[in-house]
Amino acid sequence: MSIRLRLTLLYSGILACTLILFSVVLYVLVGRFTLQWQQQALAEEAAQILTQGEFRLTVIRTPQGKVAIPQTFVQTRDLDGQVVSRSINLGTYELPLSDKGLTALTSGEADGWLEIVRTENGRLLIYSRPVVVNGQPVGILQVARSLADLDRTLTTLRHYLVVGTIVSTITAFFIGWVLAGASLRPINRITQTAREIGQERDFSRRVEYEGPNDEVGALVTTLNEMLTELQAAYQQVEQALVAQRRFVADASHELRTPLTTLRGNVELLQRDPPLPPEEQRAILQDVAAEIDRMIRLVRELLTLARADAGLRPRFEPVQLGPLLEDAVRQAQLLRARPLVRAVAENDTVVRADRDLLRQVLLILLDNALKYTPEDGSVEARVVVEGDRAGIAVRDTGIGIDPAILPHIFDRFFRGDAARRGDGTGLGLAIAKSLVEAMRGEIRVASRPGAGSTFTVLLPVETAASAAEESAARREAIALRAAR
Ligand code: ADP
Repeated sequence: MSIRLRLTLLYSGILACTLILFSVVLYVLVGRFTLQWQQQALAEEAAQILTQGEFRLTVIRTPQGKVAIPQTFVQTRDLDGQVVSRSINLGTYELPLSDKGLTALTSGEADGWLEIVRTENGRLLIYSRPVVVNGQPVGILQVARSLADLDRTLTTLRHYLVVGTIVSTITAFFIGWVLAGASLRPINRITQTAREIGQERDFSRRVEYEGPNDEVGALVTTLNEMLTELQAAYQQVEQALVAQRRFVADASHELRTPLTTLRGNVELLQRDPPLPPEEQRAILQDVAAEIDRMIRLVRELLTLARADAGLRPRFEPVQLGPLLEDAVRQAQLLRARPLVRAVAENDTVVRADRDLLRQVLLILLDNALKYTPEDGSVEARVVVEGDRAGIAVRDTGIGIDPAILPHIFDRFFRGDAARRGDGTGLGLAIAKSLVEAMRGEIRVASRPGAGSTFTVLLPVETAASAAEESAARREAIALRAAR
């Protein structure tokens, strides 16, 4: 059952119950008070009859004209209960008196007795009282009046109340139905929009609402906010998917190229008659170089895949000076020229993963060495910037064209000068992923022909972060021990 119907039924039900209760109370009270007035009038009439001159049981004198109630019936009885005389308007009808009433009146227990009897012309209200002459009871006076008019009025009242209750309840039901529909309309619209969004996956849609900022308004606002969040998350996932697809396509392309070269070289080596030995040697050298490139490519792809899957660096305090000198030494083993100058004047300690930071430094140093002529210079120094510190690698090499500068951190991006070299276009992308995983920043400043400076900045190790680190380590040890 819909909320609309439930609400309407509930309110109509409450209204119907209230109206029924009101009608019953009104009906009972009107009935009771009207009867009381009739009783009072009869008692007064009986008193008037008795005080009208000399009263005799045998002569009925109705106070016609005086009290002006023509429908009043009068009857007298002796002390045994025998009817002595009756008013003419009674015809042959005899006003009854119960034995209980007779006893109560003759014994002096009661000075008035009321009874209601049913006749074929409707109910009759009879008031009986003793007739006392000179202090002695001589008989009983009975006055009666038909209750037909009262009953007719009550019946009409009852009809009006029943019809009124039914009509009011039905009217209230329809008005309630319309009002409930109007106040629930925004909710229906929300349901409809939510359903359409679900079916079409169109998170750019919003629920339209122009009503007051009540509960429904708050619901609409919350829903629209949720849709905005959902849209952003969905776009992020979509972008990530597109990037992933491009990455896979690029990776397969990059792997296919050396494989094709290798296959060509192997076919050359398989030639019959065989190639001269010097040519074979040159081809084998090519093969070895291609294989090296492939190994490097696969290793770098693996590093990137790990970084994408959510790298969890092992944070520790890392002294920058020794790490810098170590990395420079290692870089120079592969490329001896130009010479790298390592400057580590201050003893700065950052919070980082030592192995990941070394990997980043090696990438930057290798690039600087690669893109700087042998007579140029490369310098790697420790830098401090506010609450961050790191390493800047500056070279006097070929520099980077401002047009390609925003793309150098993209995966597989290679500048024109790099295409002929042994680069894969993944070095800076890896460096960026690793630095970001360590909550750091990598940036570049470069001028074509003048050289480039790559700077890596990481949070400085403080007493608080060291305490946090050792607490986490203690917790991990305790956990391991508990297992
Ligand atoms: P690659 O394997 O091609 O070096 P990277 O991701 O390390 O790939 O670098 C991307 C591109 O950025 C390079 O192809 C090159 O054009 C440019 N680049 C990187 N470092 C330097 C540098 N020190 N000097 C000049 N150009 C650089």
